[in-house]
Amino acid sequence: AYVVAEPCIKCKYTDCVEVCPVNCFYEGANFLVIHPDECIDCGACEPVCPTKAIFPETELPADWSEYKALNTKYSTEW
Ligand code: SF4
Repeated sequence: AYVVAEPCIKCKYTDCVEVCPVNCFYEGANFLVIHPDECIDCGACEPVCPTKAIFPETELPADWSEYKALNTKYSTEW
């Protein structure tokens, strides 16, 4: 699945939500997250993100590795 990382915090754009064919974006605390089981790995969201916050989980920068769990938490717990 794709993962939203730190650059998304307080981003006001929702281009990613608009291009996602399966509507798997959810609102986290102050950033958007991707539901790991609903994401179909189409890759459409990555290039349209104005803050370059979206990564395939295998390419998530190490500094932001905790975001994988945060995407799961915020997309599934509320
Ligand atoms: Fe949605 Fe595709 Fe991005 Fe997954 S990779 S969140 S399915 S747009």
